Amino acid sequence: MSSLGQRLADIESRIDAATSKAGRQRSEIELIVVSKNHPAQMVLDLLELGVRSFGENRDQEAKPKSEEVAAQVAGKGYDYSWHFIGQLQSNKVRSALSYANVVHSVDRQSLLDAIIKATSERETPLDVFIQLNLTDDPGRGGIEPKNLLAFAEQVLAAPKLNLLGVMGVASLDRAPEVDFETIQQASQALIGVAPQAKFISAGMSEDFEAAIAFGATHLRIGSAITGKRQY
Ligand SMILES: *Cc1c(COP(=O)(O)O)cnc(C)c1O
Repeated sequence: MSSLGQRLADIESRIDAATSKAGRQRSEIELIVVSKNHPAQMVLDLLELGVRSFGENRDQEAKPKSEEVAAQVAGKGYDYSWHFIGQLQSNKVRSALSYANVVHSVDRQSLLDAIIKATSERETPLDVFIQLNLTDDPGRGGIEPKNLLAFAEQVLAAPKLNLLGVMGVASLDRAPEVDFETIQQASQALIGVAPQAKFISAGMSEDFEAAIAFGATHLRIGSAITGKRQY
C-alpha cells in the first residue's frame, strides 16, 4: 500500500478505536481529509483510496484545485464534497460557493449577511456550521458561546441555509478536552432550539480522539493523513 494509503488506514483504525471506546458508531462520524497545501493529485489519490470529503481553508487555492479535480474525474461518478473550513472573506463567498458543499466557518455577522445574499437564488440550501470562538479574545473570530443562540436564530431563519451545528478549533494553550467540552455544551444548547442542528465539527490530527469522546461528528484531519504540507 502507498504511504498515503497506510496513513489513511492508520487514522481510520484510530477513529474506529476511539469511536468504540466512546460507545459510539463509526457511521455517526464523517472523516474530512484536509487537502490544503497539497496539489489536486493528492485529492485524486485520496478519491482512489475511497475518501469522499475534502477540506480546504483558502479560496485562492481551493477553487483551481476543485476545478482540476472535477476535470480529472469527469465521468467517473465519484460523489464527493468540498468543505470550506477556513476564515472566509465576504468578497470570496460567491467564489467559494461555486464548489463548496459545506461551510464550517460562519463566524461573524458580515459573513452571514454575504452568505445569505449569495444563496438567495439557490435551489437546495447550503449546509453550514457556526464557528465558535473558544479563546478569551473577541478579536479572534468565531461566535462567543454566550452569543450562539442569538446568532443561530438568524441562520435558522435564512431559507437557503441548513444549519448543521457548531464548529471549533481547540486552543493550543490547554488540554483540548477543555474546549471540546465547551463545544459539546454549546451544541446541547443549540439542539435545545434546533434539534436537527446536532452535528459537531471538531478534531484535527493532534486531537481527534479527544474530539470523538466529546461527540464530534465531522473530523477535519490534514497532516496525519496527507503528510507534511508541501507549500
Ligand atoms: C488545517 C486545518 C485542519 C487540519 O489540521 P491538521 O493539524 O493538519 O490535521 C483542521 N481544521 C482547520 C480549520 C484547519 O485550518
